[in-house]
Amino acid sequence: MANKMKNCPECGKIFIDTGAGMCSDCLRKEEQNEIVVCSYLRDNPGSTIKQIYEDTGIKERTIMRMLRAGRFIGKGDISYPCERCGTMIKEGRYCHKCSQELQADVKRMSDAINQKKQAVKKDKGVLKSRGMYLK
Ligand SMILES: [Zn+2]
Ligand SMILES: [Zn+2]
Repeated sequence: MANKMKNCPECGKIFIDTGAGMCSDCLRKEEQNEIVVCSYLRDNPGSTIKQIYEDTGIKERTIMRMLRAGRFIGKGDISYPCERCGTMIKEGRYCHKCSQELQADVKRMSDAINQKKQAVKKDKGVLKSRGMYLK
């Protein structure tokens, strides 16, 4: 498989993406940041991303990316806002309320699709019986 040339999302430099998603310089920086955030969390469990940023200078965006990658699981407590409503949460992407609402949305959508399918089936059935009638 050929490696892809890409612009590093952090510094904009062109690099060969081997799956890390950023250039080796930024990757090294990211690894250092991760160690800093992990030790910060050990000393300050339950911190918010904002607090970490204020005390360590590591960008919120970077911390969020680490969080989504599951880097801090089991390494300490961290709070961050729900992607939907901004409530502070400690795991997943959404708070309890939003994930319930999102699940309900998904169910409603799949119900609607199922209903449509049923309606199509019914239409076809009607056509068929009509056809038989005409014969
Ligand atoms: Zn870079
Ligand atoms: Zn929420």
